[in-house]
Amino acid sequence: MTANLLDGKKIASEIRENVARRAEELKARKVVPGLTVILVGEDPASKVYVGQKEKACREAGFKSDLLRLPETTTEEELLSVIGRLNADPSVHGILVQLPLPSRIDPEAVIAAIDPAKDVDGFHPVNVGHLVSGVPGIVPCTPLGIVRMLESYRIPLPGKHAVIVGRSSIVGKPMAHLLLARDCTVTVCHSRTPDLGYFTRQADVLVAAVGRPRLITADMVKPGAVVVDVGINRLEGGLVGDVDFEAVREVAGWITPVPGGVGPLTIAMLLENTLSAALRCSR
Ligand code: NAD
Repeated sequence: MTANLLDGKKIASEIRENVARRAEELKARKVVPGLTVILVGEDPASKVYVGQKEKACREAGFKSDLLRLPETTTEEELLSVIGRLNADPSVHGILVQLPLPSRIDPEAVIAAIDPAKDVDGFHPVNVGHLVSGVPGIVPCTPLGIVRMLESYRIPLPGKHAVIVGRSSIVGKPMAHLLLARDCTVTVCHSRTPDLGYFTRQADVLVAAVGRPRLITADMVKPGAVVVDVGINRLEGGLVGDVDFEAVREVAGWITPVPGGVGPLTIAMLLENTLSAALRCSR
């Protein structure tokens, strides 16, 4: 049996159309959703991501600004830019593209963003809301994954979700979102011995590691839902953390790379920005 495809690109385009429609309605109230992205330095992958975000904003009818700061920017200078954006009523969302140059403390920078404008959902206040189950801004990638699973009516309550990766951007928020949907959640990481022992128990398997084809067919339970977050640039092109061709013969559902989780991340960034603009306009 070949797995059904979880078409993140299709779901993302539906979400983006909906966001654009709601942004248009908001304009009638003289509010244009505004996102400012800050890019420090010249990281090539970051430039690609920032370009994709800008394009998506324009297509949704948002006001989109990219602040490109030199590699030599100090933490103090960056904090002062954030202070100015926090005070600007036309800016509803602020996103600092990570990674930052090593001299700058990302925690200090994230903590300086007004939590109401933290459309990445990384500010400690938003993290606290997520952990305590209070509505707040949720990180885009795990939020997009949950929205995709819900769109495909994948049942979650009572299922065993195994997440590989414990980053603050994907793994940890993913665990909280799936817990909130009544999954039994296991989080694996680089120090987990015998990873396959855990992944083989997963009804829902989320791989967010950054190791090409780490998840092989023998590590997947037949019929499982497999979500591949990984983006690994190899000479032959992009591959995920899942050995797609082999795993699709075992899994029930699977996301492709590219065209799976990536487009959802951008769609949820737009939705988080729109929600921030809506809250301001009330
Ligand atoms: P990270 O480097 O911050 O975290 C990786 C995690 O994987 C860590 O928790 C580590 O403990 C775990 N890990 C490392 N080696 C392991 C191993 N051999 N076995 C089990 N666990 C292991 O990465 P991240 O920011 O969470 O990103 C993970 C991947 O997802 C990367 O490829 C990244 O590019 C991709 N990503 C994609 C999107 C998207 O929109 N599709 C968004 C964010 C991240």
